[in-house]
Amino acid sequence: MRPELSGTAIDETAGWLRDADRVTVLTGAGISTESGIPDFRGPDGVWTRDPAAVGLVSLPDYLADEDVRRRAWLSRRDNPAWHATPNAAHLALVELERAGRLWATITQNIDGLHQRAGADPSRVIELHGTLYQVECLQCGRRVPMTEVLDRVASGDPDPACTACGGIQKAATIAFGQQLDRSVLSTATAAAAGADVFVAIGTSLTVHPAAGLVDLAAAAGARIVIVNAEPTPYDEVAARRFAAPIGVVVPALVRRVLSANG
Ligand code: NAD
Repeated sequence: MRPELSGTAIDETAGWLRDADRVTVLTGAGISTESGIPDFRGPDGVWTRDPAAVGLVSLPDYLADEDVRRRAWLSRRDNPAWHATPNAAHLALVELERAGRLWATITQNIDGLHQRAGADPSRVIELHGTLYQVECLQCGRRVPMTEVLDRVASGDPDPACTACGGIQKAATIAFGQQLDRSVLSTATAAAAGADVFVAIGTSLTVHPAAGLVDLAAAAGARIVIVNAEPTPYDEVAARRFAAPIGVVVPALVRRVLSANG
């Protein structure tokens, strides 16, 4: 057995989760790789393999260049999230939530897999937005992504807003774009109010998301990190599991719930 998955490490961490009044998790792209959605910075990450792909999520490039927008619509159409299903880690977090032991799920992911796994949507804070909605950058109107992708399929490579003619984009946060203020303040409260804060599958290099760890730690939360690769926050973590998320998270949840009843 890997040392970081020893019964002692799982038992002790499960004890922290059990004793906590408020457990908050922060998830990143790494929780969805086992559902077949590549992350950005892991060994098989989209940007590790194709550094130029970062241009597709930069707002200035998106606004200035119609070709970037055309490619972005095709990449939304081809996003593996459309065919992905939640994995054992998403499902385990739902069990934790249903047992009343998960206060909030903050996610950097846009794939909707927490909700598809059965998480209460009111407890999922989508820090970086969602792939399933499109927003007009001029008038702010939102429409379902499927509606706009139908227009792409019918031959419109860069569908404009039907209300005002503005440029449209997935309702996700691109580089150069501010996070939604109310979403960020909900996430801040969920981090600052936690007794235990578990960061799962995130390289903790994207801010302000990564700064939520600082907030939680400053407010006295125990920090637990589940991530295959090192992160800049490993030193503040009371425990770090460098093993597959689909193994660690279900093992932890099983341990919390088995001692529950
Ligand atoms: P990241 O790509 O920077 O880091 C992911 C981390 O997860 C890596 O350190 C990697 O080692 C680890 N990891 C991957 N699979 C793992 C596994 N099975 N077990 C253990 N560790 C694993 O991801 P990030 O920090 O979330 O930042 C990327 C940004 O890109 C986010 O803002 C997010 O919005 C976006 N993104 C989202 C998705 C999605 O919705 N699924 C996918 C790619 C990128």
